[in-house]
Amino acid sequence: MTIKYYFDYNATTPTDPRVVEAMLPYFSEKFHNPSSFYRSAQETNQAIEIARQEAARLIGARPEEIFFTSGGTESDNLAIQGTASRPREKGNHIITSGIEHPAVLRTCEHLEKKGYQVTYLPVDGCGLVDPADLEKSLKDTTILVTIMQANNEIGTLQPIRELARIAHQRGALFHTDAVQSTGKIPVDVKALDVDLLSFSSHKIYGPKGMGVLYKKKGIKVDPLIFGGGHERGLRAGTENVTGIVGLGKAAELARLEMAEEERRLRPLRDKLQQEILARIPEVLINGDTDRRLYNTLNVSIKYIEGESILAMLDHQDFALSSGSACSAKSLEPSHVLLAIGRKHEEAHGSLRISLGKYNTPKDVDRLLEALPPIVDKLRRMSPFWDKK
Ligand code: PLP
Repeated sequence: MTIKYYFDYNATTPTDPRVVEAMLPYFSEKFHNPSSFYRSAQETNQAIEIARQEAARLIGARPEEIFFTSGGTESDNLAIQGTASRPREKGNHIITSGIEHPAVLRTCEHLEKKGYQVTYLPVDGCGLVDPADLEKSLKDTTILVTIMQANNEIGTLQPIRELARIAHQRGALFHTDAVQSTGKIPVDVKALDVDLLSFSSHKIYGPKGMGVLYKKKGIKVDPLIFGGGHERGLRAGTENVTGIVGLGKAAELARLEMAEEERRLRPLRDKLQQEILARIPEVLINGDTDRRLYNTLNVSIKYIEGESILAMLDHQDFALSSGSACSAKSLEPSHVLLAIGRKHEEAHGSLRISLGKYNTPKDVDRLLEALPPIVDKLRRMSPFWDKK
């Protein structure tokens, strides 16, 4: 079945038909192993290098600084575990924030079990890391600071350039999970001065199961996967040529169309925010309303469960999230919302609306019509609403 009103672009995006078209020949006539000797194999190798150039252009990197992976999760793991497993002359301390994606948090927890020390920085009520907190937490033994650029749930954008500068002053490397920002806003690794950056193809209208790790020239990271020396020894395994070609095309389209997307989507998101606040009482906005992704709106609708709203919206063909997609199956309240100071009940009543390429002003109007009666109905059934 197809969903009519999709508002979950931070969870994933549909593959752009132009991306699918670019990929198709690599499933059939252009199937050759890029490592083989003959000319047709060299052509597939050439296609990989063109995609590498496009991925590099999207983030202001050089092609030789781009490494293809199986997605944002692997890129984060490679950046963090790959740095941690280098010879530890400097030390074994890592700094991250409490609102990272599980791809970063679980990796850090895994390293803690292996004897590494990890500091989890707090965030303020808008989800921002205070650079002064980073400064205080850095030690001579800090090998890596990893802080996301844009939060997947609330969209808050961190001051990455400043955080990277502070980390570098104490000789630590800086990694950013830019899975939600890349392709939505201009990301320039040189301007940000980061050493490592992760992004993912399925968030930018490319195929699932593909990602990139940017590794600044000269920075050393150990591989997680060993084998035939692909990706210049950093990530072994015969290349996913179709996926790489798709990621390259998606990166090209994102670079060319991002500004127009922002121009179109920001007013739609702002209208949703304004109208939800106007039409529904007792709603809290989660995240930083100034420094935030232009496509993301996260609200806590007090006295009811986000899950119940989602279920009722689903019946009317709307797809949204409560918390993050990755934790949608868990009953735990979102760690991000708790970290910004929301109470458990408020975190449970959260809705994430994330807009994208195929949303129209009409979709937004439909959602604004559908949501208030659902909230009203659920609140009338809620014991908390009565007692407030
Ligand atoms: N980091 C962030 C901020 C994300 O939002 C996601 C996906 O939701 C990931 C990492 C994981 O990326 P992937 O799904 O490509 O493994």
